[in-house]
Amino acid sequence: MNRIVMKFGGTAVATGENIRNVACIIGDTVKQGCEAVVVVSALDGVTDELSEAAEQAKKEKKDYIQAFKKRMLDRHGDAVDKAIKNPRLRKELEDEIKKTVDELEKVLTGICYVGELTPKSKDYVLSFGERLSAPLVCGALRDMKLESQSLTGKEAGIVTNSDFGDANPLLNVTTHQLKERLEPLLEKRVIPVVSGYIAATQDGVVTTLGRGGSDYTATLIAAALRADEVWIWTDVDGIMTADPKIIPSAKLLPELSYQEAAEMAIFGAKAMHPRALEPLMRENVPARIRNVFNPKNPGTLISSEQTVKRRDAVKAVALIKDVALINISGAGMVGAPGSYARIFDLLGKNGINVMMISAAVSEANISFVIHRNLLGRALSILEIALLGKGLVSDVAAEDDVCVVAAMGANMKGTLGVASRVFSAQARSGVNIRMIAQGSSELNISFVVKEKDGKAAVQAIHDEFKLDKI
Ligand code: ADP
Ligand code: ASP
Ligand code: MG
Repeated sequence: MNRIVMKFGGTAVATGENIRNVACIIGDTVKQGCEAVVVVSALDGVTDELSEAAEQAKKEKKDYIQAFKKRMLDRHGDAVDKAIKNPRLRKELEDEIKKTVDELEKVLTGICYVGELTPKSKDYVLSFGERLSAPLVCGALRDMKLESQSLTGKEAGIVTNSDFGDANPLLNVTTHQLKERLEPLLEKRVIPVVSGYIAATQDGVVTTLGRGGSDYTATLIAAALRADEVWIWTDVDGIMTADPKIIPSAKLLPELSYQEAAEMAIFGAKAMHPRALEPLMRENVPARIRNVFNPKNPGTLISSEQTVKRRDAVKAVALIKDVALINISGAGMVGAPGSYARIFDLLGKNGINVMMISAAVSEANISFVIHRNLLGRALSILEIALLGKGLVSDVAAEDDVCVVAAMGANMKGTLGVASRVFSAQARSGVNIRMIAQGSSELNISFVVKEKDGKAAVQAIHDEFKLDKI
C-alpha cells in the first residue's frame, strides 16, 4: 500500500467550496488504497492578515482588533457553511472556530495593552491561520464519512529551536514523535490532518517554520514516516519555466532533480519552501507538485533521478520582488583586510539575511541585495557603524529593484550562457544594476529596476525558447 503525504496550500483551501474539492481529492486517494497524511496551510491571505493585525495591536488599535475578529469569524464560518452539510458537525466546528478566535482576540488584546510585539508573540498570532484551517479540512472529510483527526504541528510532534519566525526543527526528536503519534492513526485508518507551518519548542512555546513553511511540515512528515511520495497541491500545474502569472506562455517542467528544484525554490519560484527539500533528499522521498484545480495532470516530479535529459542550459527563470539593493563605497576599503567581514558581521548579528553579493576588484565598493522590509533597519545599522570612520564614505540604497535569476543544472560548464542572457537584456532595453553568478554555476542572477522585471524575464524566456520545451 502506498503511503502519501498530501499538502494543500492557501489557495487550495481558500473557500468552503475549495475545501470540499480538497476533501474529494483526499477521499479519491484513500479509496485507491493509499494511506494519506494531510497537511494544510491557512486559508489564502489569512497569515498576511494575522501579521497585519499583530502590527495594528502593537499600535494599540483596539477597534481594528474587533473588526478583524469579525472578519475571521465570518470568513471561517462561511467556509464551514459551504464545506460541511451535516448539522451536528457544523455546530461542532462553529463552536471550535469561535473558541479559537476568542483566544486570538485575547492574545491581540494583550499585545495592545503592552504595546509591544516580540518575535515570540508574533509567532503565536501567526499560528492561528493553520489552527483554524486544519479542523475545517478534517470536518469536510468527516462530512464525507471518512475518519479523520486534526492535529496542530505541535500535537503531531514537530519540535524546533526558538528562532521565532524561522524556527529549525530538531530532527531526531521530531522524527521519533511524528512516527509515534501519526502511525497509530494510520493503522486505525484515521486520516491525520496536520496544521502546517506551526510547531513548538521543547518547552511547548509555539514557533513557525518561516513563511511558506507548510511545505516543510509536509516533507518533515514524509521523511519521518518514510512515505512513498509527498504531493504538494497548489494552484498551478507544477513547477514551470517561469511564473505563469508573469509569463503566460510558461511551460510545465515534468521532472526536476532535488538540486534544481531547491535552486528554484531559493530563487523565488514560490512553488516550494527553500528548506522543504532537505528532508526528502535525506530519505530519498520523491515530491510531486500538483494542481488542485486540475488533478488529472501528473504535475512536476522532483526526485534524485532526472530521466528526461535536456541539452538546454537554461531551464527556468524567476523574478524575486520585494528586494532592495545596498551599495557601500569608500576608498578606505581598498586593501583594508576585514572590511567586508565587518559589513557582513554587522548584518548577520542583526538578523539581516543577504541574498546576493557583488564586489568590484577595485574594492572601492560592494553591493548586496536584501529583503525590502529589512532595508530601513539595515541602513540605520550600517550608517551608525560605518560612516565617518575613514573606511566607508557612502551607503546608498535602491528600493525599486528586483532580482531576475536564470537557472538550470546544465549551465555548468556550458559556454556562452551569460553572454546570451545579457545580450537578450540589451536587446530588450533593460539596464542591469548588478550581477552575480554562483560558483555552483546553477544560476545567473542579476538586479534590474522593478519596472523592467517582466521584460527581463520575458527576454530570457524567449532567448532560450522556454515556451517550446
Ligand atoms: P501555495 O499557497 O499553494 O503554497 P504558493 O503561492 O506558495 O502556493 O506557490 C504557488 C505559486 O508560485 C503559483 O501560483 C505561481 O504564481 C508561483 N510561481 C512562481 N514561480 C513559479 C514557477 N516557476 N512555477 C510555478 N509556479 C511559480
Ligand atoms: N500560511 C503560511 C504562510 O502564508 C504557511 C504556508 O502557507 O505554507 O506563509
Ligand atoms: Mg507556498
